[in-house]
Amino acid sequence: MSDKTMVFTETEIAARVAALGRQVRENYEKILAPGEQLLAVGVLNGAFIFMADLVRAMGDLPVEVDFVRLSSYQEKDTSSAEVVMTKNIEKEISGRHVLVVEDIADAGLTLDWLIEFLKKRNPASVKVAVAVDKLARRETQVPLDYVGFTLHDGFLVGYGLDYAERFRTLPAIYEARTK
Ligand code: 5GP
Ligand code: MG
Repeated sequence: MSDKTMVFTETEIAARVAALGRQVRENYEKILAPGEQLLAVGVLNGAFIFMADLVRAMGDLPVEVDFVRLSSYQEKDTSSAEVVMTKNIEKEISGRHVLVVEDIADAGLTLDWLIEFLKKRNPASVKVAVAVDKLARRETQVPLDYVGFTLHDGFLVGYGLDYAERFRTLPAIYEARTK
């Protein structure tokens, strides 16, 4: 990779995530029963930074965290993804309100797979938060409930997103030129 340009600054990300966190808190305050906690499920590795910021932006909403690790690659000439789960959730989610936290929705196949996987375990609800909604290659209309930023296209790095395990720890989001 020879170059990258900033698309969302650290300041913009902080403001957007703060707003999302407030929105999440306001919505779940109405839904959660006394003593009940939201279960935020982060998708490793990409979502770990967004997840950390988002749960801290939820103020005093009671939140429990869990993680899955998924890797996906698209099957040639189909709109289905081969998704491999290399780390499962560890909490019982039956009857729980679950918020999936993912770095980016691209084709949407990974999130689609995960939502189906979770729904089979009878949660009370499944909602989705993504840092970035990238539209150009969407193949399945996956419902995104909380969206940080919307973008048409481009390969992004930073704020958890990597290119061959580099750039994850950059605090801003950049478009990489993979020339
Ligand atoms: P999809 O929505 O295509 O099934 O898969 C989304 C996954 O592909 C994301 O979780 C992320 O790991 C990866 N991905 C998609 N777009 C980008 C991007 O612009 N940058 C990086 N680093 N990963 C991406
Ligand atoms: Mg990912």
